[in-house]
Amino acid sequence: MTFDYDLFVIGGGSGGVRAARIAASEGGARVAMAEEYRMGGTCVIRGCVPKKLMVFAAGHGATLEEARAYGWQVEATGFDWRAFRAKLDAELTRLEGAYTRNAENAGVEIFHQRATLADPHTVLLADGRRLTARHILIATGGTPFVPPEFDGQGAMTSNEVFLMDELPGTMLIIGGGFIACEFACVLQGLGVAVTQMYRGAQILRGFDDDLRHTVAAEMGAQGVTLEVGTDLVSLERLPDGRYAASDTNGGRREFDRVLFATGRVANTGGLGLEAAGVALQENGAVKVDGWSQTNIPSIYAVGDVTDRIQLTPVAIREGHAFADTVFGGKPTQADHALVASAVFTRPEAATVGLTEEEARREGPVKIFMTSFRPMQTAFAGGTSKVMMKLVVCAASDRVLGCHIVAPGAAEMIQFAAVALKMGATKADFDRVVAVHPTMAEEIVLLRKPVREG
Ligand code: NDP
Repeated sequence: MTFDYDLFVIGGGSGGVRAARIAASEGGARVAMAEEYRMGGTCVIRGCVPKKLMVFAAGHGATLEEARAYGWQVEATGFDWRAFRAKLDAELTRLEGAYTRNAENAGVEIFHQRATLADPHTVLLADGRRLTARHILIATGGTPFVPPEFDGQGAMTSNEVFLMDELPGTMLIIGGGFIACEFACVLQGLGVAVTQMYRGAQILRGFDDDLRHTVAAEMGAQGVTLEVGTDLVSLERLPDGRYAASDTNGGRREFDRVLFATGRVANTGGLGLEAAGVALQENGAVKVDGWSQTNIPSIYAVGDVTDRIQLTPVAIREGHAFADTVFGGKPTQADHALVASAVFTRPEAATVGLTEEEARREGPVKIFMTSFRPMQTAFAGGTSKVMMKLVVCAASDRVLGCHIVAPGAAEMIQFAAVALKMGATKADFDRVVAVHPTMAEEIVLLRKPVREG
């Protein structure tokens, strides 16, 4: 049977573009791709990239304050959201162009429209064309989840944050995960009075407890009203466009805007997966094996749509491994072990490996930890604290987890991840001479365990 293409990729985000490029440029495959929105996907268009630029924008406010304490005669007269947004839009357009060009230069044909599956080898384009391919890759990512009872009430998700015409005076953020915590810090840093409401006992469930408590304390100190153990009961749109929110503590308050950061779900709705016979997980994500192959041999899936680890670099690895396996003659499985991640709160929280709780379930541990006021902010009179922690296996001395809350923690954890991936022991950390004066040096100066057993 002849096909129009060797590979058809649905979704022009990080995972899909990497797979398409490698299949075409290194595997010599005839590749097509469909993207219904903007090339670049969540990371580039409404995720990591615009978020990080907003983190930088917010950080400058704090830097200006600090500069004054260092003797600079500067006065921040306010943040110009519209000016920032215009620059942000231009940057995203530039990146979108770069993503498109890179794929096209590799020989990928791009259809800027929605595509759905008609059968295991056929894709149906929105304009009615039917195209066939030997292999189809689902790389449609995820989409924000809003609890059904609040859906359609005009509240925002992370998709809309970057599109706001103006910054609100007050904002309620629902959720305690990555997105909720990051936007709480960013928006508070830009001058919005943020209330963050989380149903659980402490934010950032799944992270190390010391990291969670440190981040929560730092967020509170910078002015975020953090309400844990509290959930939204009802949301009412007021005649003036604002919102009245009632919560499980019996409170009823008004906010200019409400943002749901209550998780993300796989973007599989209406994709024709049933028509092609592709099996899904209970939560709607595509079921794949270690090769990113679905139950239909010609159909693969990578990235957030498979709900393995929802991180851009993981999607890229999965896409690359797929292309190497299917088109490059190099069977490769993406490695999901010891993937580091960072939450861009202020200060940042970064982590690799096991939490103390997870490690304890596997056997006795030694916990090394420090908490201190870093020189830069302490000099300016700041009370902000840094936390660094190593979780060490008592039997083997191997470092099982590293958790950092500090300015620049995301940059630090990248190197800790190399050490952990190499199987570093605590003795290896101890053998390393400190780089002085830095914050990061403390990670090689942790002498005595704070807890054992
Ligand atoms: P998360 O899974 O991190 O957090 C979702 C939050 O919403 C949790 O606190 C959860 O509570 C809460 N929640 C879920 N359902 C409800 C509900 N019905 N009512 C009230 N609260 C609810 O998802 P995010 O959307 O923040 O992020 C999605 C993923 O994107 C992350 O897991 C991460 O992998 C990725 N990401 C990575 C970033 C980075 O690398 N810096 C930045 C942003 C996103 P509970 O804990 O109780 O379940």
